[in-house]
Amino acid sequence: MAEARKKIQLKNYINGSFRDPSSGNYLNNYNPAIGELYALTPDSNEDDVNLAVKAAEMAFPLWSKMPIESRSRIMTRIADLIEQNLDILASAETDDTGKPLSLSNEVDIPRSAANFRFFANAISLFSSESHAMNDAVNYTLRKPIGVVACISPWNLPLYLFTWKIAPALAAGNCVVAKPSEVTPRTAFLLSKICDEAGLPHGVLNIVHGLGTTVGKAMVEHPNVKAISFTGGTETGRTIAAAAAPMFKKVSLELGGKNPNIIFADADLDKAIDTSVLSSFRNQGQICLCGSRIYVQRPVYERFKTEFMAKSYMLKVGDPRDPSTNIGSVVSEAHMKKILEHIEIAKKEGGEILLGGNQLKLKGRCEHGWFIHPTIIEGLPIDCRTNQEEIFGPVVTIQPFETEEEVMALANGTNYGLSASIWTNDIKRATRMADEIDAGIVWINTWMKRDLRTPFGGMKQSGLGREGGLEALRFFTEPKNVCIQY
Ligand code: NDP
Repeated sequence: MAEARKKIQLKNYINGSFRDPSSGNYLNNYNPAIGELYALTPDSNEDDVNLAVKAAEMAFPLWSKMPIESRSRIMTRIADLIEQNLDILASAETDDTGKPLSLSNEVDIPRSAANFRFFANAISLFSSESHAMNDAVNYTLRKPIGVVACISPWNLPLYLFTWKIAPALAAGNCVVAKPSEVTPRTAFLLSKICDEAGLPHGVLNIVHGLGTTVGKAMVEHPNVKAISFTGGTETGRTIAAAAAPMFKKVSLELGGKNPNIIFADADLDKAIDTSVLSSFRNQGQICLCGSRIYVQRPVYERFKTEFMAKSYMLKVGDPRDPSTNIGSVVSEAHMKKILEHIEIAKKEGGEILLGGNQLKLKGRCEHGWFIHPTIIEGLPIDCRTNQEEIFGPVVTIQPFETEEEVMALANGTNYGLSASIWTNDIKRATRMADEIDAGIVWINTWMKRDLRTPFGGMKQSGLGREGGLEALRFFTEPKNVCIQY
């Protein structure tokens, strides 16, 4: 117990106050790069969720009726404070996830600020429709829904947490939010920032804990009107099933098994460099990573050789070392899951071209959970390795001959989140973009994001779209008013 007291102790943020969980229990939170327990997260339960929903309901009349300019000003202040606290937030994100500090500094935290700034501005430009008839006019109101739930995963903790919370708040809703219990630290720091920014009490409530208790209670609470969820497909299915009988609005951003297609006429140097990133960035733990690489036969050997060489050069190491490209994966359990998938790939007949095992570092990270970037060749589309999301630094690579063949491969899974196509033939690029089963298609690039665009997947990659006006539409209820002249 004396040992436990030394750890950072996080608290729930409910009705503007920092509270212990009603159970008095805490969950262990590990720094995966050093394999050490370093913080304690509230193990909240239904009672805490009930308090949070009550607080959100009480805050709703004030927040929803507040002039847009005032709401926007508070959200801009939150964005400013995220930027001012960049070092603290980036350091916390890296300790929680094991991702390179450079990535937290350059991507995760700046994007979290950008999410608040973007939606603070977007709400002032949000307009609704009007439809004129000969003898009447219709206008559509877009009203905030009320209390909404935001549930996010561990791979891009603050980035995805704020991607949900910001549009929900901008549209005038009050929020009960839960970060992943695996990576709760920056969500806790965000609650302090919101307090400092003067966000009225109860407008945002952050309840820490397990998905199966806190997440479930949020989804099932009768006064939570909408759920915005990002996470695994199976969890999404559970949430959809729970929400359906209550007719709640749901937005589900789920898993992916994204194809990365390289034609022989592509700019190969660029395709190789970007494929190294799209395969292994954030240890391959981005839902948009291209985990199935298809290369047209004439350039297959060259692509493979150079891709392997550049992947081999990636430095797997201490996330705090500025020269590190790949940090640790998020947890020991996740590392074991990835290694199990690699064993399955071997049993399925895959040849491990690179990596394939855990990496033991020396020094500060000797007990951390690291995996070599792994490239696997020789597997058919219908095997588990090519069908199931591994969500780690593992990709498969395979040659193809024709556009028809690669289109069938690309569309040959139950997922449909994103796809990258590398070609200099614009007709082929647009034809394929049209036919591929993906909510997001990149041509000659990857992960280029404009926050105004619709974001999300089809098939088992999700339901609904986030981003820009799509998010503001999700977080509002349309009401048509018809006036007879
Ligand atoms: P999970 O589905 O396990 O968890 C996501 C969140 O849901 C966590 O906060 C989790 O809590 C919570 N949760 C778990 N069970 C329930 C439940 N029954 N009711 C309500 N909430 C619940 O996903 P991971 O955290 O493992 O994240 C990885 C997954 O996220 C991958 O599949 C990845 O593809 C997907 N993802 C999708 C993105 C997209 O935009 N499409 C973007 C990023 C990731 P707890 O932490 O306690 O488990």
